[in-house]
Amino acid sequence: MGNPHVLAIPYPYQGHVLPLMQLSLKLIDHGVKITFVNTEFIHNRIMNAFSEENNVKELINLVSIPDGMEPWEDRNDIGKLSESILRVMPGELEQLVKDINQKDVNEITCIIADESLGWALEVAERLKIKRAAFWPASAAVMALKFSIPKLIQDGVVDNNDGTILRNEMYTLTEKMPVMNPKQFVWTCLGDSNTTKIMFKLIKHTNITVKLVDWIICNTSYELEPAALGLFPDILPIGPLLSGDRLGSSGYFWPSDVSCLAWLDQQPVQSVIYVAFGSFTIFDEKQFQELALGLESLNRPFLWVIRSDTIDKKPDMLLEKMKARIGQRGCIVSWAPQQAVLNHPAVACFLSHCGWNSTMEGVSNGVPFLCWPYFGDQFINQTYICDIWKVGLALDKDESGIITRGEIKNKAEKLLNDKNFKQRALIHQEMVITGAQESGCSNKNLSNFIQWIK
Ligand code: UDP
Repeated sequence: MGNPHVLAIPYPYQGHVLPLMQLSLKLIDHGVKITFVNTEFIHNRIMNAFSEENNVKELINLVSIPDGMEPWEDRNDIGKLSESILRVMPGELEQLVKDINQKDVNEITCIIADESLGWALEVAERLKIKRAAFWPASAAVMALKFSIPKLIQDGVVDNNDGTILRNEMYTLTEKMPVMNPKQFVWTCLGDSNTTKIMFKLIKHTNITVKLVDWIICNTSYELEPAALGLFPDILPIGPLLSGDRLGSSGYFWPSDVSCLAWLDQQPVQSVIYVAFGSFTIFDEKQFQELALGLESLNRPFLWVIRSDTIDKKPDMLLEKMKARIGQRGCIVSWAPQQAVLNHPAVACFLSHCGWNSTMEGVSNGVPFLCWPYFGDQFINQTYICDIWKVGLALDKDESGIITRGEIKNKAEKLLNDKNFKQRALIHQEMVITGAQESGCSNKNLSNFIQWIK
C-alpha cells in the first residue's frame, strides 16, 4: 500500500487557498502526499506569483481544473462564480480523481474540501473516498450557517431567498458576536440575486457537510469557546499561519519584501500597518480620506495598495503625498503580511478584518483598527472590538465615509491606551498555547492526521 494521498480543494479566493495550503504543508510533514486542486484561473496566478526560491511546487502536486467562466469574466462576483463552479467543477473533479487513480500508485485516499464546496464532498462520497470539510474562517460563521433553520423558525430570514424579515440585532448564544442581519454572510455579499444564490448554496452545504467524518476549522478554542461549544462537531485546528519557512505559498500576487528592510529602520512599535486583504476596493473619495488620515498621523506607516485597490485613481494624490512624507511612509502592492505583523516595529494593524488577517494579527499580539467591508468581516470586527477587546472600530460619518479625522482620532486612542496592547499580548499567548503540543488545536490536528493515515 502506498502513502496516504490527500486531494485538497479550496474555494478559489485568496483567503480560502492560503490556509488550506498551510494545512497541506503540515500534512506533508507527516508523510502525506498532497494533490492541491485550484481552478485554472487561480492556478496560473499562483504559479506566476511564486518567488524563485520557493520549493512548494516540488512538495505539493499542484493541478487545476476549469471553473466554467471565460477568462475575462468577473470572478469577484461570488454568486456568478459559485454557480459556474457548481455547473462545471463536479464533473471535472470526478474525472481528475479517476485519472489520478489510474496513473498513480498512490491512489487518492482522502478528499479535504472547502466546506463551501459541498459538491466536492458529494463527489468523494460517490467515489467512496473518505472526506473532511475544511472551513477557513471563524467557527462563529459556521455556527451561523448551521443555524439557518433556527433563523427561519425565529422569523429572522425568509426560507426561500434568505432576505431579512426581522431587522433586529441577533446573537446565537451569549458571548458570541451580536450580529446585524444586514451583515449575515449571505446578505452582505452583493445584490439581492447574490443573496438568493448564496443562501441556497449555504443551505445545500448544510446538507453535504453531514457526509463528512471531520469538520475542521481554522480557529482556536481559546478564541471562540462559545461558538465551538454550540457546535462541538466543529474541531478547531488553527490558527494555521502562512509561516516563512516555505516562503509565500499560494499568494495571488508576488510579495514585495523590500518593506521588511524599511521596517528594520523604524522604531519599535511605531508603524501602522494598513492592509485590506485581497478583495477590498475603494472609491476615490474614501481612498483620499485614508491617504490624508495616514499622513495626518505623524507616524510611520506601511500601506498595501494592490493594483486593483481603487476603482479610479485620484490624480497625483499619491505622488504628492509621497513627496510630502518621504521615508515616513512605505507603499507596496502586496506585503509578506506574516513577516510584517511579526516585526517588532509594527504598532497596530489597520485591517479589513478578513479572518486570516484577524488570526495573523492576534497570533502576533498586534492591536487592530477595524475597517470591515463585507462578508464575515463584520463578525470578526465584533470579536476584535467587543469580545477580545484588542481593537477599535472606525465609524463612518453620515455620508458613509470614514474621514481622515476619524482615522487620526481612533489611531491615537488605540495607541495611547496600553490596555489594547496588553490584551493583544494575552490573546497571543492564548492562541500560541492552543497550538502547542498539549493544546486543543494541536491535539485535534494530530488526531486528524492519524485518521488520514
Ligand atoms: N496578505 C498578504 N499580503 C498583503 C495582504 C494580504 O500576504 O499585502 C495575506 C494575508 O496575510 C492573509 C490573506 O492575504 O493571509 C488575506 O486573507 P483574509 O482572510 O485576511 O482576507 P481576504 O483577502 O479573504 O478578504
